[in-house]
Amino acid sequence: MIRSRHYTPAHEAFRTTVRRFMERECAPHFRDWQADGKTPRELWLKAGEAGLLCTKVSPEYGGGGGDLYHNLIIIEEQTRICFNELTFYLHSDIIAPYIELYGTDDQRQRFLPRMCRGELVAAIAMTEPGAGSDLAGIRTTARADGNGYRLNGQKVFISNGQVGNLICVAAKTDTEAGAKGVSLFLLETDGADGFTRGKNLNKIGCKAQDSSELFFDNVYVPPENLLGGAEGRGFPQLMMRLPEERLIMAMSAIANMEEAVAETARYTREREAFGQHLIDFQNTRFKLAECKTKAMLGRAFLEHAIDAFIDGTFDTNQAAMIKLWTTERQYEVLDECLQLHGGYGYMTEFNIARRYADSRLGRIAGGTSEIMREVIGRTL
Ligand SMILES: Cc1cc2nc3c(=O)[nH]c(=O)nc-3n(C[C@H](O)[C@H](O)[C@H](O)COP(=O)(O)OP(=O)(O)OC[C@H]3O[C@@H](n4cnc5c(N)ncnc54)[C@H](O)[C@@H]3O)c2cc1C
Repeated sequence: MIRSRHYTPAHEAFRTTVRRFMERECAPHFRDWQADGKTPRELWLKAGEAGLLCTKVSPEYGGGGGDLYHNLIIIEEQTRICFNELTFYLHSDIIAPYIELYGTDDQRQRFLPRMCRGELVAAIAMTEPGAGSDLAGIRTTARADGNGYRLNGQKVFISNGQVGNLICVAAKTDTEAGAKGVSLFLLETDGADGFTRGKNLNKIGCKAQDSSELFFDNVYVPPENLLGGAEGRGFPQLMMRLPEERLIMAMSAIANMEEAVAETARYTREREAFGQHLIDFQNTRFKLAECKTKAMLGRAFLEHAIDAFIDGTFDTNQAAMIKLWTTERQYEVLDECLQLHGGYGYMTEFNIARRYADSRLGRIAGGTSEIMREVIGRTL
């Protein structure tokens, strides 16, 4: 668990609240939600009531007024029960800060309180069928129409795309200007003519996290829903939040490695083969020793990164390094731990199988490992 120097008893008390919520509201149900392919809206309302949404948002808008630790604690606790795919972080730690930091006062007032209560569930729609890593290549447009805009285009892989009712859409307000022509729009989907959701996409993991195609056919967006009220700022707005997003992904990877090692140690202590417990084979202990060391190194890297983040020195390069290193190690560790479970490791009723499938996403979403290497490579 997080133990870096700014962690306080108040954070520990928050952890207790989160743990209770996970055990009471999520653990008994999330396998049903995995079968449904999404989380129910009531969960978001309950989370809002329990103070688990928008923990960093100012109390002025209904948020918790917390810090980075509050976000990380939620990630740690959901990973502990193997509910890796819960997307509170996306809503609270990625989209709410766009609005709080870059939105107009009117946007903060209109959206943040409802996001804090879970009445609005947010999604961020950047990726398109023809543009993922190369975001400047998006083709969705927002053309001026009278006072407002008309959105046209298509998005894919959008988390919360089925349950979300506030979608932050990246679109080109100037198709000639490359990255400088991208703007972000806050689209309330209820009653938005021309907006449709595609089917819930079937994934190999993160089953309760809904993922959708979204279609925009001349969807009207009023001018007051252009994030920050000025065109062409979308790209820097997206980029400025990436370090924190990547730190959160590293937290998830480390917690997942730690839980996987603990679960595998337990399993191999109980399972017998050739007249002894699996843990009695030197190979098992060696493999688990390596996995535990990787998790521990990740934890040390994270504590260092948290301190840098709080001191204001955590940058894009460090974020790329920690995201790359921890998500790649996570995949190796989960693969070894699954192997030590034998055939049972391949069965989805075992946590290890779900952790393995869920963890694969870490090397793709939030910027692929190759893009992380590119970012780091530029600093050489
Ligand atoms: C489950 C899931 C949830 C997601 N949620 C969201 C969401 O909520 N919102 C959203 O907007 N997007 C979301 N995404 C999209 C995700 O961010 C993209 O999939 C990711 O950025 C990669 O883009 P791509 O899939 O188009 O792959 P591509 O960009 O086509 O990349 C394909 C391969 O080429 C490599 N590659 C690309 N460029 C380079 C380069 N310059 N050098 C070397 N290699 C390169 C990549 O690393 C990758 O291995 C989600 C994706 C998944 C799978």
